[in-house]
Amino acid sequence: MPYQTVNPFNNQLIKEYTPHTDQQVEQALAKADALYRSGWAKGDIDQRLPVLHKLADLMESRVEELAKIASREMGKLIAQSRGEVQLCAQIARYYADNAKKFLAPVRYESSLGEAWVEHHPIGVLMAVEPWNFPFYQLMRVLAPNLAAGNPVLVKHAGIVPHCAQAFEQLVAEAGAPQGAYTNLYISQQQVANVIADDRVQGVALTGSEKAGSIVAAQAAKALKKSTLELGGNDVFVVLDDSDIARAAKIGAQARLSNAGQVCTAAKRFIVQEKVAESFLQAFTEHFRAVKIGDPLDETTTLGPLSSREALEGLAKQVDAAVQNGAKLHYGGKPIPHDGNFFEPTILTHIGRDNPAYFEEFFGPVAQIYVVKDDDEIVKLANDSHYGLGGAIFSTDIERAKKLASRIETGMVYINSLTDTAPELPFGGVKRSGFGRELSDLGIKEFVNQKLVVVS
Ligand code: NDP
Repeated sequence: MPYQTVNPFNNQLIKEYTPHTDQQVEQALAKADALYRSGWAKGDIDQRLPVLHKLADLMESRVEELAKIASREMGKLIAQSRGEVQLCAQIARYYADNAKKFLAPVRYESSLGEAWVEHHPIGVLMAVEPWNFPFYQLMRVLAPNLAAGNPVLVKHAGIVPHCAQAFEQLVAEAGAPQGAYTNLYISQQQVANVIADDRVQGVALTGSEKAGSIVAAQAAKALKKSTLELGGNDVFVVLDDSDIARAAKIGAQARLSNAGQVCTAAKRFIVQEKVAESFLQAFTEHFRAVKIGDPLDETTTLGPLSSREALEGLAKQVDAAVQNGAKLHYGGKPIPHDGNFFEPTILTHIGRDNPAYFEEFFGPVAQIYVVKDDDEIVKLANDSHYGLGGAIFSTDIERAKKLASRIETGMVYINSLTDTAPELPFGGVKRSGFGRELSDLGIKEFVNQKLVVVS
């Protein structure tokens, strides 16, 4: 896939980027490995943390510039791009402030003697990242691993090369030594070669199930650890005792934010019979109120999809859903425009034999399911290959908590959409992947938890 910036608002090619050669990849690997073997990576963490503080400051001082790069390149609304850049600064600062505590030795009581576990870096990591949060996805890997001392090589998505370049420059400007973070414009075969290289010790991927299973298999073949953050088909449960107006408003936001291209977006709305009609009415009003337009225009509330392929794929999925018996309650078609716009869409009456029942719709398409009781909610929620996040709306928190514990996902939010914060673990189960990013758990994924015993 070529590395090129195409503005999703009008499909105009802005710039093409030259791919890296095998020789350049080898140089990047050698530099990263040399850094891993140096006193910088293996020595005192206090040498590394100032880079993250500086990176946070730099990003905060350039929110506008960076946000525009993301919005032009993948179509995110400008306000949401600003939010993403600010979140990246928070993640960098969070690890700068807390990594030392997370990586401090942990004592164990033992009959064999004085015992403790130390945390050491393991070596060079290969990260494969997607376009939907083109800075945040990079920061989730870079911040904890820079603190831990693991050099990172990154293959970003082909459609966001400008974001990839801007992020690499920021990390260098923040004072990271050569080899700490390297962006590579490389092919899938080159990624496979890097993963197989003995100098690489771990692989982190965020993206589709397909990419996840291929890349994790490559890592497994070379006996290397991987973390995977893949798709989701998250439920948004509306119980009969919910504040319906609030649930409808947040539900629409949870489905339409980032034009619906979020792994933890609310995709399956499970609504109790008693409130189904009132919820659907209020929810539809929010879809109707959407203002489609240029993501750089502050008044736009729904931007384009990231690429023409994404638009065509989504249109096919919606058509197939309808052909297989789903009812189109609202929207349903691409919008005639030079850009990649799809109508905000609501599907109802989706049977279990409809392919849409199990598929992730990566765009502004909501599925509505009407159910009777809590057992039916749990059955439907768990009848999915995925297990990433989920949301439950209710005024009875104890009831919502009981339901939350029965839903097979890595995250559940009560009375809020599925969100993210530096201090909270992020990740899923089932075909949504394995491992966690962010928080104290994220920084422990790629460290050697080394036991030392003194008898
Ligand atoms: P992909 O999984 O294809 O892309 C994600 C990243 O993986 C990109 O950098 C891509 O590179 C790379 N990649 C893909 N296949 C391989 C491979 N065999 N070896 C090495 N790297 C690979 O996602 P798409 O962008 O095509 O989106 C398709 C679907 O994936 C979406 O509809 C959605 O369901 C899911 N998705 C989930 C995301 C999440 O946040 N969990 C994010 C993005 C997508 P390149 O761009 O060069 O192909």
